Amino acid sequence: MTTTQLQPMPDDWRRALAVVAHPDDLEYGCSAAIAAWTDGGREVAYVLATRGEAGIDTLEPERCGPLREREQRASAAVVGVSAVEFLDHKDGVIEYGTALRRDIAAAIRRHRPELVITLNHRDTWGGVAWNTPDHVAVGRATLDAAGDAGNRWIFPDLTEQGLQPWDGVRWVAVAGSSTPTHAVDATSGLERAVHSLLEHRTYIEALTDEDPETYVRGFLTQHAEATGERFGGRPAVAFELFGR
Ligand SMILES: [Zn+2]
Repeated sequence: MTTTQLQPMPDDWRRALAVVAHPDDLEYGCSAAIAAWTDGGREVAYVLATRGEAGIDTLEPERCGPLREREQRASAAVVGVSAVEFLDHKDGVIEYGTALRRDIAAAIRRHRPELVITLNHRDTWGGVAWNTPDHVAVGRATLDAAGDAGNRWIFPDLTEQGLQPWDGVRWVAVAGSSTPTHAVDATSGLERAVHSLLEHRTYIEALTDEDPETYVRGFLTQHAEATGERFGGRPAVAFELFGR
């Protein structure tokens, strides 16, 4: 176990855009940082590639999608995020490629963020804990789209639609990375992160027999404290930061 300390995340920015595959991807660890940022007056918007419609075994996708969309909007509101968009790719079979890059580049041009956040794009969570293909596809496409958004010639149809190039993304921060470099103090946001994840109640009740609040609080607190061992002992959310 390395004891290298994580660096504080840059804070000289005003707008962030979080791009992930599924409802709950941001709530499993990242939303304490988002609460801290919105408290500080920063704008954060969410873009989800899918509605998570294939995420609950006992619920068919046509009913599951709208329900998880509602849970995601409620979950975002708890941490001060009101802009939540869905790209309507298909849950479980998101394809990495130019269609996905184009959709994410369009979202970046609409929101004009300095900081883009996504979830682990690598094959594993570390060791032999295999990642899902949706996370890999969306994470990679987001890292790529941060560049695509600034180039008027890569997706010229976006410019024709009035979405001007945005070359202002300075960093892409990857949550859930097994090789993090930076962190955000989660002390002030942790309680809201618990309530934010709890909004995914249908999903969590299908996932575990434990009391939802006990499960959520245990999971998030344990992760934040483990990260804190590399961040001066404060509970923290870690990111692998890619500068641009
Ligand atoms: Zn996910």
